[in-house]
Amino acid sequence: MLPEEIGDYLQRHGHPKYRGKQIFAWLQAQAVVNSEEMTDLPQSLRKEIVEEKLLKPLQIEKKQISRDGTEKYLWKLEDNEFIETVLMPYQRQQSRQRVTLCLSTQVGCPLACKFCATGKEGFTRNLTTAEIVGQVLDITAEKRKQDDDFKVTNIVFMGMGEPLLNYDAVKKAIQILTHPQGQAIGQRRITVSTAGIIPGIDRFTDEGWEVNLALSLHAVDEALRSAWMPVNQRYPLSALLQACKRYWEKTRRRLSVEYALIAGVNDKLEDAKKLAHIFHRWPIHLNIIPVNPVQESGAQRPAQESLRKFVQELKGRGLEAVIREERGTDIDAACGQLRSKKQSEKGEA
Ligand code: SF4
Repeated sequence: MLPEEIGDYLQRHGHPKYRGKQIFAWLQAQAVVNSEEMTDLPQSLRKEIVEEKLLKPLQIEKKQISRDGTEKYLWKLEDNEFIETVLMPYQRQQSRQRVTLCLSTQVGCPLACKFCATGKEGFTRNLTTAEIVGQVLDITAEKRKQDDDFKVTNIVFMGMGEPLLNYDAVKKAIQILTHPQGQAIGQRRITVSTAGIIPGIDRFTDEGWEVNLALSLHAVDEALRSAWMPVNQRYPLSALLQACKRYWEKTRRRLSVEYALIAGVNDKLEDAKKLAHIFHRWPIHLNIIPVNPVQESGAQRPAQESLRKFVQELKGRGLEAVIREERGTDIDAACGQLRSKKQSEKGEA
């Protein structure tokens, strides 16, 4: 809840409204998730929060740390479902370390992209705003036990699920995470990724905010995209690109485009040529991601040489691309590798 909403709730239950701001600041600015530690609240209110179970931290089921420092958290939700969150620490920039969290927005995902472990599981349900924000709060609370200065600086909605199919909860989570009395994460440090939900992109375009939009493109041919990303049958590439262009024209914010390079599937020079043609004179941030291994997907990572040639071809045609740094592959925390507990425990014993 936002501070005003907590205040309204408290007022309805016989407490002064201003306590809403205090509780919001404890939770969101201090990452204090235990009401007993909210020392400026009266004892009676602290007790009520516990008795009424008003704060429900997520339960960490398992935490894994990659050799590159990436951390993966498996959470158990109230209804015994599981989701994952990935934390990526980066080099210090000026005085502060950049910490990016990759958040999940759904349990499973209905879009069933062929190269994605989450998509293999099917869809169970949307996450609530509390479960989305909770991933940030509970990791922050955990980390601050060792490091008082720990702060999540960047958020990407690229974990399990399609964020634009859970639009309202994601939007509310963004309002909470960016609130100046809370974590105050800058809108420009938040990126929402979509596999191509056109009504969601149109709504996002009209928000008037500075949150970034990323498109998981992965193919530049209708039939190929439909085969690997069934969402393309509902929202075809041609219409999707129009929606993205409307986004650029209205917001003047560069779209990030993600392209997972799969050996023998979408890594031909012809694909690079089409990609460069689509985006010529339309500035984007293009990230090339050599596909991450997911058992049973059949997708193979391209050889270094094909990757180099692909990027070279793009460059020759005026489209600069960044090859996405590989993070957390050894703990299945990289793009497309997140799963719920049952599957993630396979082979890990
Ligand atoms: S890649 Fe994203 S949209 Fe596609 S199935 Fe996986 S989680 Fe869903």
